[in-house]
Amino acid sequence: MTTQTDTQSIVGRANRDGARLFRDWFGELTDLAEQGGGAAYVFVMGSFNEILKSFDMPVAFPEINSLQTAVRRVAHEYLEEAEDYGYSPDICGYVKADVAVQLREGKHPMGRIPKPSLAVLTNACNTYVKWAEIWERMHDCPIVTIDVPGSREQGRAVSTAGSRERRFENDRRYVEGQMRELITTCEQLSGKRFDLDKLREVLGYANRMSRAWKRVLELNRAKPSPFNALTDGTIYLGVANGLRGTEVGAKYFEDLVEELEYKVENGIGTLNDESYRLAFVGVPCYPIFRRFTEMFTEWGGNYVSSTYLWFASGGANRGFEYDLDKPLESLAEGVLLSVRDAMDSMFHNDRVLTEMIDEFALDGIIYHPIKSCRTVSTGLADGRRFLSANRDIASLFIESDMMDRRVVSEAQLKNRVDAFFEGLASRRHQASRA
Ligand code: SF4
Repeated sequence: MTTQTDTQSIVGRANRDGARLFRDWFGELTDLAEQGGGAAYVFVMGSFNEILKSFDMPVAFPEINSLQTAVRRVAHEYLEEAEDYGYSPDICGYVKADVAVQLREGKHPMGRIPKPSLAVLTNACNTYVKWAEIWERMHDCPIVTIDVPGSREQGRAVSTAGSRERRFENDRRYVEGQMRELITTCEQLSGKRFDLDKLREVLGYANRMSRAWKRVLELNRAKPSPFNALTDGTIYLGVANGLRGTEVGAKYFEDLVEELEYKVENGIGTLNDESYRLAFVGVPCYPIFRRFTEMFTEWGGNYVSSTYLWFASGGANRGFEYDLDKPLESLAEGVLLSVRDAMDSMFHNDRVLTEMIDEFALDGIIYHPIKSCRTVSTGLADGRRFLSANRDIASLFIESDMMDRRVVSEAQLKNRVDAFFEGLASRRHQASRA
């Protein structure tokens, strides 16, 4: 029997715990920076957190640091500082906010970010490559770039037998070879020998997280859906990236599954009245994050899924579990699958969305191209056109930014969103009369 005490202690727990873990993480980074220590700078698409954690290296995610400046409504100060320093208003806002953080010697609204002792990146976004060069110039830190081959044919990458698999195996070995070079760099920097058993332990925690993440995504198929993929999802993504490969991170996601299962069993939705089920494509509008979400929830629209939950989940997107008997081989396979999948969900979002329409019983899709991010935004219009031609699904195309409030017009966004929901209501009305 469910009691009120159960509900009070379980519902909302993941958001409370996520905020606490986030504060603790930034607190540790701040202490480290004050002591003059460094951290490995990594990115959400292919962080290699597993290898870095096996060397006990502290990890910082500049993308997450930057988005926090927008959520805390001070991003414009950082952007303007970087522009005054010489960066174009046109480039990725995450880069510029980070440049300002570096110019301020790590000072950040959540504390202080240590200098980079190492930067690890993939080719998942071309901006990563130029961004890391900025740290190299500013701090003379080593950079390890891992080239992850993208998809060369339609359909998801596979790792089973056949000619397609030979190509997959070649790609996997290519990634593994580069990963071994990263390990050598970590040995040189840390003065520690690589410990395969330690990596196995880290991978075990990552497996628990991936299993739970898969279940979290599945649970939001329920009606009403237990979480908002945009707001709650951003908290989950922070923990999925920052605490990947740790026991705390694994436990957080297992607790989250318990909370969401509880909500589903008891019919507790994230909205009191979920009238429309939506998917979000792109990166959220952080400068007015709460208001942006309210524009949809006020109409009973809930984000039940998003491409963001795939491409920014730090390797958990496929629910892939590492083979602990072959840790390095399996890690290379997991990286290849997850980074490739992340790239596909950005560049070929129509494939991911086609699956989501049925799985999540979607009423509409919101495309949100942003000025700052060409990687995610280029091609959204083409993807929308393809989907409109092939599926009977309502969609909305609204433009703003994830960092720069100067290009966010709340009134214009609201007009477009209101008109979209009016259209959805009339669509539903017509369908009920058919
Ligand atoms: S361009 Fe887009 S994907 Fe690349 S770093 Fe910037 S926000 Fe991330």
